[in-house]
Amino acid sequence: MDLGIKGKTALVCAASKGLGKGCALALAGDGVNLVITARGKDALEATAEEIRSKYGIRVTAITGDITTAEGRAAALAACPSPDILVNNAGGPPPGDFRSWSREDWIKALDANMLAPIELIKATVDGMIARKFGRIVNITSAAVRMPIPELGLSNGARTGLTGFVAGIARQTVAHNVTINGLLPGPFDTDRLRGNFIFNAKKLGKTVEELAKARAEANPAKRFGNIEEFGAACAFLCSAHAGFITGQNLLMDGGAFPGTL
Ligand code: NAP
Repeated sequence: MDLGIKGKTALVCAASKGLGKGCALALAGDGVNLVITARGKDALEATAEEIRSKYGIRVTAITGDITTAEGRAAALAACPSPDILVNNAGGPPPGDFRSWSREDWIKALDANMLAPIELIKATVDGMIARKFGRIVNITSAAVRMPIPELGLSNGARTGLTGFVAGIARQTVAHNVTINGLLPGPFDTDRLRGNFIFNAKKLGKTVEELAKARAEANPAKRFGNIEEFGAACAFLCSAHAGFITGQNLLMDGGAFPGTL
């Protein structure tokens, strides 16, 4: 299927590995030129080169922390008028809410709520003027089904989702859509980090826990970044202009509800 976005430009945040990289790869596969970001220069440059050589599109790598004003300024300087914006950043650490300070909360809100809102603010009016825009926020299955030890994530991402629900209905008349992609368990470093935290608590090895968690999923496995990227690319496609304010749960069927 031709997604109808060849030659467009995407800013994909936090994309040197994991889910952001999956989105970058899928968009590149459809001929989209990229600006990708991450904090670590070496991994980011390696990913940029991997994508360039595979798809022959333009990839600009911008090193920086997207949760800071400086990091966002650098990304926007390289990509002031994206047609597509994929918001992503690392997730907050797990823990017990009793030990979280105001500072911990502000950090989580900055990363997983306010940074995407700032990037939407900086880019959405240009998209509206050009009559095309696709914004995808990578959030979490926790927006539908909270994860007890990830309270900082549950709170910050639900805040972003609530904000987007309001504006996504205002931008769609201009062919600018804003949607959420909600990953359940995907096989990335982040997931492994959560297993390390929980394995200690449960007195199991990381491998034992990972195997049990995969078995407990209705799909009997974790998701992979290629299938995540494919869903992102479809939401960014020319065909998805009637989909806005939605939150697509990708969890192998783990959420037990009918809707
Ligand atoms: P990952 O494999 O650890 O990859 C994270 C990527 O983001 C890396 O490229 C990392 O590079 C970059 N990054 C992290 N913080 C950044 C920052 N402040 N500024 C710029 N780049 C940053 O993680 P992932 O599994 O893809 O997770 C992506 C997001 O989805 C996270 O918010 C995570 O909590 C959420 N999520 C993941 C899952 C899952 O199962 N994987 C499930 C639910 C939600 P640098 O470290 O070099 O910056």
